[in-house]
Amino acid sequence: MQTILNYSNGVLKEPNVGKELDVYNPANGRVYAKVPDSNASDIEDAIIAAKNAYPKWSSTSIEERHDYLMKISKAIENDLDNLAMAESIDNGKPLWLAKAVDIPRAASNMRFFATAIMQFSSESHEMNGQAINYTLRKSLGPVACISPWNLPLYLFTWKIAPALAAGNTVVAKPSEVTPMTAYLLSKICIDIGLPAGVLNIIHGQGENTGAVLSGHKDIKAISFTGSTKVGATIASKAAPLFKKYSLEMGGKNPNIIFADCDYNKMLETTMRSSFANQGQICLCGSKIFVEKSIYQKFKKDFVTKAKALKVGHPLEKDTKVGAIVSKAHFNKINYHINLAKEEGGTILCGGETVKLEGYKEGWYIQPTVIEGLSIACSTNQEEIFGPVVTLIPFESEEEVLKMANDTNYGLAATIWTQDISRAHRIAANIEAGIVWVNTWLLRDLRTPFGGMKNSGVGREGGFEALKFFTETKNVCIAYSK
Ligand code: NAD
Repeated sequence: MQTILNYSNGVLKEPNVGKELDVYNPANGRVYAKVPDSNASDIEDAIIAAKNAYPKWSSTSIEERHDYLMKISKAIENDLDNLAMAESIDNGKPLWLAKAVDIPRAASNMRFFATAIMQFSSESHEMNGQAINYTLRKSLGPVACISPWNLPLYLFTWKIAPALAAGNTVVAKPSEVTPMTAYLLSKICIDIGLPAGVLNIIHGQGENTGAVLSGHKDIKAISFTGSTKVGATIASKAAPLFKKYSLEMGGKNPNIIFADCDYNKMLETTMRSSFANQGQICLCGSKIFVEKSIYQKFKKDFVTKAKALKVGHPLEKDTKVGAIVSKAHFNKINYHINLAKEEGGTILCGGETVKLEGYKEGWYIQPTVIEGLSIACSTNQEEIFGPVVTLIPFESEEEVLKMANDTNYGLAATIWTQDISRAHRIAANIEAGIVWVNTWLLRDLRTPFGGMKNSGVGREGGFEALKFFTETKNVCIAYSK
């Protein structure tokens, strides 16, 4: 049994009240670690540490901050195998995926913001010989970073890196469902000599830790990724205190396929955008709209491929679909599959749980493809966040745009067509913060990232993140005496 500790004021610590939570290995459904069940007093201690560390950290040169972040990035890279194994055991994702995507991306998040802060600059506005305005961007103070379980170290570092680079100190709260790599990151921070209190990582349940951060007077900004429900709770606490907040929340993303697309590339990519990470990526395309003239062909090919995907133990090399992250989430996905049947959907493949030989208590679900549902039904409106997609035929561009926008969410959309004018038209009119044309999940870390409607408030990525983690001040200087 492994024991995870909080990282507060530069040291690893047990929670003040000594309570713990179980951490499960989704591959076999067994408890394999204990994580602190921290409370308000642990958060209070971490905020005091972050406040004390702030004056010095915010006045370090950008070169120094760059150097610290680069050291963390290198240490993550050097520990790739260990971190990937930890992520796979904690989350249930295939080991090859953690090795190829999650951990390299965590290292590149650190590297990216280490170099971005070196290039960050501000504007000036000259007033015709009368005066000059210049924009000052100053760090905020102690800030909070709260992250989910689906891409644990990847999303955790995506928030922490710009916050630290901009000169803030951080109290971070990883998901209690997948806390292991955040704990390993705290050890890395100690090893590379990050000054005490600059980054504090407090584990525990959201209501006892994240909620305390959201309503705390000394926390200047909150960067959150997670469900829309929790995002709303955070906003309700933070808004009356006029804190800055950035909320990256749920999605119900359309994948729109026109008959003129590059069919083979579309088919391969649509397999990934449907089932990668067991469908537990906020950007997965869970509603697949297919032009009627190729609907039957697509359905046959897609279902054949979905049936062939190997659901297996996350550590096996040929596993394509690993385990679902938790029992609660496994139950939620199964509930939605049953609801789809009740709503009149036809299950074209999957729809069942899988009992793996030797790991019968693990949480596995077959890749599931459903058709025959109206756009208004719950299956097509609610985020399922699992290996479950629906197929919806369409006849015209107008019709598919209307259906794709008929949702409270607005995170990402994918469009498959060779018609460049149509691609631009849909990209401009679709209600999503991120649009991919003839690709999916291709990311340039400089670009703005975030959702519209119930999917988000604010943007992460590139200079957007550095702007979020700084306060903007205008200074106007008259030329005349
Ligand atoms: P969640 O909202 O349940 O939890 C996210 C984090 O918030 C966890 O650390 C949790 O402990 C904490 N939390 C819970 N209650 C809280 C409270 N009252 N106050 C403050 N913090 C609290 O989300 P999850 O189940 O971990 O993750 C899945 C969700 O995340 C999905 O909806 C998915 O779409 C979303 N997500 C969005 C993006 C994006 O970029 N938009 C990326 C990944 C995941």
